Amino acid sequence: MVILYLGVFIKNMEKLRQNYAEITRNIEKAAARSGRNPADILLVAVSKTVDTATVSKAYSLGISHFGENRAHNFILKQENLPVARWHFIGQLQTNKVKSIVGKTFLIHSLDRWKLAEEINKASQAVKMETQVLLQVNISGEKQKSGLAPDLVKSFLAEAGQLKMMKIAGFMTMAPLEAPTGEIRSIFREMSNIRQMMLKQDFKHCDLHYLSMGMSQDYEIAIEEGANIVRIGSSLFNT
Ligand SMILES: *Cc1c(COP(=O)(O)O)cnc(C)c1O
Repeated sequence: MVILYLGVFIKNMEKLRQNYAEITRNIEKAAARSGRNPADILLVAVSKTVDTATVSKAYSLGISHFGENRAHNFILKQENLPVARWHFIGQLQTNKVKSIVGKTFLIHSLDRWKLAEEINKASQAVKMETQVLLQVNISGEKQKSGLAPDLVKSFLAEAGQLKMMKIAGFMTMAPLEAPTGEIRSIFREMSNIRQMMLKQDFKHCDLHYLSMGMSQDYEIAIEEGANIVRIGSSLFNT
């Protein structure tokens, strides 16, 4: 029995190592195509479908940033491996904010003013600034969260009042089933919005990050300027 388990463990580890190597190569190639340094592109391993043991394996392979989309699992996994950097990537209810603030490297899913106020308040309470990305709904799909593109500028301007929350860039998602051209144009529009907002020169935000791209579309996202990709299924084979 023990030998059987060990065999399965080694096989899984090997598969994870291969997946990670392949994704790293793809990131390098996409970065080269867009004339950028692959070291400037951050891989967030989306661990929402795997257990803490698998997260630890991934960490031992050199992956140090992980993403979770539910507060309960975020806390569980963050507490199990606090040396890693933890990203919150899912829709965030205001009543869950307190439980994750102080433990996040980045919250990718700021999509409304009430949530911003709550993050600011919770950050004040723990005396730690929270870095967030503004999630923008470029595709306009009704079921998708995110701020409408035409509200981005005023949101950024107002956010200066919230001293303990810092907007560090943008996040968007492309539709799951869409032609490549449409996916590319959504990422390009997000990238253009970032460029326009950089020109506004808001002193209270730096807008460095552009979080776009998942297993199906991360190479397109990098070609269009993403510097964070959030990858789950193609890394963990789920
Ligand atoms: C699940 C999830 C991902 C990862 O998706 P994969 O297709 O499994 O790579 C990325 N971003 C968000 C917001 C997610 O919920």
